[in-house]
Amino acid sequence: MRWYSITAGITPMTRISPASTPMVDVQRIGERLRAFARIGYSRDGAINRPAFSRQDLRARELLLHFMDELGLQTRVDAIGNVFGRLGDDTNESAPSVLVGSHLDTVPEGGRFDGSIGVVAALEIAAVLQEQGNSLRHPLEIVSFACEESSRFGRGTIGSGIVAGAWDPDEILALRDARNLRLGQVVERLGLDPRRIASARCRPEDFTAYLELHIEQGRVLEVARARLGVVDAIAAPTRFRLRLTGRADHSGATPMPLRRDALAGAAEVVLAVERIASATPRVVGTVGTLQVKPGAINVVPGEVELGIDVRSTDGADKARAIQDLQEEIVRIARLRELIPTTELLSDEEPVTLNSGLVAMLEHHCQAHRVPSLRLASGAGHDAMQMARLCPAGMLLVPSRGGISHNVAEWTDFDDIVVGIQVLLNVTLELTAGHMSQLGKGAAPPLPLDAHDRR
Ligand SMILES: [Zn+2]
Repeated sequence: MRWYSITAGITPMTRISPASTPMVDVQRIGERLRAFARIGYSRDGAINRPAFSRQDLRARELLLHFMDELGLQTRVDAIGNVFGRLGDDTNESAPSVLVGSHLDTVPEGGRFDGSIGVVAALEIAAVLQEQGNSLRHPLEIVSFACEESSRFGRGTIGSGIVAGAWDPDEILALRDARNLRLGQVVERLGLDPRRIASARCRPEDFTAYLELHIEQGRVLEVARARLGVVDAIAAPTRFRLRLTGRADHSGATPMPLRRDALAGAAEVVLAVERIASATPRVVGTVGTLQVKPGAINVVPGEVELGIDVRSTDGADKARAIQDLQEEIVRIARLRELIPTTELLSDEEPVTLNSGLVAMLEHHCQAHRVPSLRLASGAGHDAMQMARLCPAGMLLVPSRGGISHNVAEWTDFDDIVVGIQVLLNVTLELTAGHMSQLGKGAAPPLPLDAHDRR
């Protein structure tokens, strides 16, 4: 198996750390990352661990094994989220500090997406356990079920159920490409879908949620930052636009008489690009285009476009969509096309906790690690958990911004330093040092900071 070499225990970070800080175990982190990467590993190096598959189940078994080794109290809830708790009689009733991510992958995915966050959580539990100090707040670690949307068309299912974001009946009715109902699938795994509502947690259950994840973009790489502190997570609004014109003979129809739906769609594609570029914090994409009848000698009579608009700011996103709708109406009128839009999803962006942003940045500075505050364009479990409790998220660079792919790569030293920073913040939180942790959200970055990205 192709893998990185381990620079055992001598990362630059190790040398400059304050002597009193408990350190993560570089060797153990490498071993656990490799152990998870062996599950669902294909010959070309890609990882196949679709949610609720046999491979996903094996990863869950391995996680439970690691949790048992650490002496954690384990539980698997009704949707398949795996929790492990490190606590004692003194802190039984106190809300816990939750750290985690996910172990499922997209088909032919990479070995870092999700896994590094679960390995980080295991490492933090191991260090806290070795320390043996009694904690004001227990530590809980978690691997959320079905984070990737590739199997059931919806992501962050496990964390969304925990946070009360999803209607349980709607979730159980989702179907995969083989037409299997999610409810059936989890039942076959020995879970009880009738108890799905019991997986929902209360805000008073957790002090905070922390997650380490790969960036899946190129912002950190371009800025030469080793860690990214997330202040907001963008949410998509997706819709399907159908433009109806008239299918005509491409030879016999003079140009002025045409109602070419594809020529109109081309203008819409450019309008999406122009409007998203002109609105701060907004990205817009036309990712699909279906042309009918789709023959070289026929003027296109109908085109369907799949449009995805995202932002970390709900007002900016709404303004961009409003501008886009007006532009679509204008293009359609000029070209005598009939536009019909169907809203596919409309999610609210999430702002992460400002106290946790400050604590994460403080510990990056303490380790002299170049970090950058940024928004996450991709959705994560932290986005659901932020509905329930203060949530904080740390990103490590993805080489070339590639993810969901065999070429996904993050340098091992960056993973180690990310786990170290997350450990330091967790130590503060479990010790009850959380004065900075207001209920408030992270303050927005100045506009120009976003524009530079
Ligand atoms: Zn992920």
